[in-house]
Amino acid sequence: MTAVDFIDLASDTKTRPTAAMRAAMAAADVGDERAHEDPSVNRLLARCAALLGKEAAVFLPSGTMANEIALAVHCRPGDAVLCDATSHLIGFEGGGPAALAGVMIEPIGGRRGIFDAQALRAAIRADAPYAPRQRLVVVEQTSNLGGGAVWPRATLDDVAAVAHAAGLATHMDGARLLNACVASGVAAADHARGYDSVWIDFSKGLGAPGGAVLAGSRAFCDEAFRIKLRWGGAMRQSGIIAAACEYALDHHVERLAEDHAHARRFAESVAGVPGIAIAPGDVETNLVYFDVDAVAGGAAAFVAALQARGVRMVAMGPARVRAVTHLDVDAGAIERAGALVRAFCEEKRQNTL
Ligand SMILES: *Cc1c(COP(=O)(O)O)cnc(C)c1O
Repeated sequence: MTAVDFIDLASDTKTRPTAAMRAAMAAADVGDERAHEDPSVNRLLARCAALLGKEAAVFLPSGTMANEIALAVHCRPGDAVLCDATSHLIGFEGGGPAALAGVMIEPIGGRRGIFDAQALRAAIRADAPYAPRQRLVVVEQTSNLGGGAVWPRATLDDVAAVAHAAGLATHMDGARLLNACVASGVAAADHARGYDSVWIDFSKGLGAPGGAVLAGSRAFCDEAFRIKLRWGGAMRQSGIIAAACEYALDHHVERLAEDHAHARRFAESVAGVPGIAIAPGDVETNLVYFDVDAVAGGAAAFVAALQARGVRMVAMGPARVRAVTHLDVDAGAIERAGALVRAFCEEKRQNTL
């Protein structure tokens, strides 16, 4: 198996910058970003603020920093943040909410990473000195552990309305917001309308080597920039990276539809295979989650065996496996990945007969 044949479905972060993206980076106009003098960064920020329907934006090295800074701007130590129990900021940010903003998380049990206004209302309590002050509601569009599920516009609006009526701020983790836009046909600014802050990631399906843009009001962004600087996230000639992000906005957004079609195709091609439980109808974007039974070896053994055969996926629990489609995986690779999974499960079943 050559490196070229290996099919990496571990994450949409596995993309490598294309030759054209690298050329755009090499040609970028740059300046000192920390002094707001980088023309490429400034252009990207203006464009993202407009895209997200916000007054201003801040360039950041990563989405994790965008979430953590947003918590620190909206909250004070000891405050509580309400979000779905599956949220990225609970499970995958190194304890940042506690370590950096000093907040408590109050998880809400949603369905596929999505909770509704009623669940939020039930979680909101009257202010009392013995309880943490509830300050912020966070939604994740699309929901990662929810299987790439897209929050419906109406749910986003209702949740934001309940939050604001209770005096809480709202934040959208938009790591895959543009996947949601392409899948739903709803513009990014419309998804983000009720949210005081929102960010998009360039290192996921958009295929850039790094970068995230956090947007909100001018006052929010001024404070976010102060914290970015304090935490060492202010950069210098980062127009090199911003150029990759801008290239991605120009060339890699519409094509997310291909990733979604590939994800659905992969899910359909392994549905009904002995040992695998999957609902292809749940695949709305580029994330595919399925369960592997004991005959197929459970998630860890399944993932190890398939990796040896040339397709990498990730075990997300004892039975749960995640496969992610992206820019570097074409239709042929998806067919081959499906065939490898089917062949493996068929062999396992034969061996147990
Ligand atoms: C990847 C991801 C993040 C963090 O983004 P990085 O750019 O990898 O730091 C945050 N939230 C969600 C939902 C993600 O999938």
